[in-house]
Amino acid sequence: MNNLLKMNYIVSIVGRPNVGKSTLFNRLVGRRKAIVHVTSGVTRDRIYGSSEWNGVQFSIIDTGGFSVLTNDVLEKEIKNQIFIAIKESDVILFLIDIKIGILDADIEISKILRKCQKIILLVVNKIDNGKSIYSDTDFFRLGFERYYYISAINGSGTGELLDKLIEIFKQELLKKKENILLENKSIPRFSIVGRPNVGKSTLINSFLNKKHHIVTNISGTTRDSLDVFYKKYECILVDTPGVRKKSKIRDNIEFYSIMRTFKTIEYADVCFLMIDADRGWKKQDMNIFRLVKKNHKGIIILVNKWDLFHKKNVYTQKDYECLIRKKIYPFYNVPIFFISAKNKDGIHKILPMAYDVLKFRNHRLKTNILNKIMLPILKKKPPTPKKKNKFITIKYCTQLPSCTPKFIFFSNFPQYIKESYKRFVENKIRSHFDFIGVPIQIFFRKK
Ligand code: GDP
Ligand code: GDP
Repeated sequence: MNNLLKMNYIVSIVGRPNVGKSTLFNRLVGRRKAIVHVTSGVTRDRIYGSSEWNGVQFSIIDTGGFSVLTNDVLEKEIKNQIFIAIKESDVILFLIDIKIGILDADIEISKILRKCQKIILLVVNKIDNGKSIYSDTDFFRLGFERYYYISAINGSGTGELLDKLIEIFKQELLKKKENILLENKSIPRFSIVGRPNVGKSTLINSFLNKKHHIVTNISGTTRDSLDVFYKKYECILVDTPGVRKKSKIRDNIEFYSIMRTFKTIEYADVCFLMIDADRGWKKQDMNIFRLVKKNHKGIIILVNKWDLFHKKNVYTQKDYECLIRKKIYPFYNVPIFFISAKNKDGIHKILPMAYDVLKFRNHRLKTNILNKIMLPILKKKPPTPKKKNKFITIKYCTQLPSCTPKFIFFSNFPQYIKESYKRFVENKIRSHFDFIGVPIQIFFRKK
């Protein structure tokens, strides 16, 4: 089950306009905040969010949200969305509308979906009173064996649908377990993440040299990524897979690359977060950084295409580095490399550093040493309380015996300690101990 929690499966909702995709999406995502992906200048937006059922989390994509377009373009757009959904999702919910019945558009969509290898659940929507006015055979002709009756508006039937989804995820997980490479925990996994076109694939290609690698395209898994065993360093390199470059689906590239990034990060021990030097450190990069941090993976930042950027003479590497470190404070001690993946400049130190980060990630500090260093610092600058008249002290700290660094600080009033103090403590831990490129967690607890 633990593994299942980490998988982050992707479920897409597909169907012609007005069948209730957004309504179902909103119901499944519930009060959790949906991330709205607005592509400026085009007439649609796309939404994804995360959902949870029986403790298992998964991502949901609403492929709909088209506004007024001519019939022709609309058709093309829908098809485009469906093709992408097929490629990128683990499970597809094909929604139809019982009130209207089966239209030509539904049949056309079903033809496309039937040809694909993915798991498809036919979902018959708008059954508000629990009864279908059609007989089952009407839906059978669409060619799907599994179908569900729901009302996206009042929620009936959605529990059963969710149960089914979780069951599917479990089966998929079992399939994956058969894959030795994936499950071989003793081989470190280094993932390369970053926005499309920053140079991730180029870096992998630069690393690989025919003598040294075996490419293993893991088929039969829903992950659809390219894992490469790099013999020279005894590690697996994971590329955020297959970002297509056709311009007509440009806006999709960004979107799905985020979804795939989720997965790629979860599989990694250490992530290389790659940015394009010319573009600089942007909000999207910060989002990926936070994601890596949230997953407690090691991080190394690669500023790529330095071959082009340094000619511009805008920043020195030092200035550039400072800018990034400011943005990622208090997790400032992340290794940053300036490279040219294309020319293979600066790439040789990256993997040895990844091994160092792995080592730091496993670093366990002795309690007496931790206290000896930290307590005087915290005594000198105790937390300023959220509430007046409370004098907060920290009496003792320890690192938990967990697989990533976690620290507990025992205090008389942990509930009154401000968030900013946590950053201060993190900063101090980082400046005294080697946790380079390693996210750490700090907790305040009642003594
Ligand atoms: P989308 O274009 O596929 O995303 O469809 P929407 O979610 O925008 O829904 C289209 C219309 O169908 C809206 O007016 C919804 O309120 C309505 N609708 C969606 N689900 C249900 C349902 O389960 N029952 C009923 N009666 N109406 C629904
Ligand atoms: P990905 O989408 O992140 O995998 O990016 P790619 O590896 O496909 O690279 C995108 C484009 O950037 C390609 O045209 C590469 O040739 C180019 N590129 C990648 N790395 C470098 C680099 O270090 N210097 C220069 N000048 N171009 C690069």
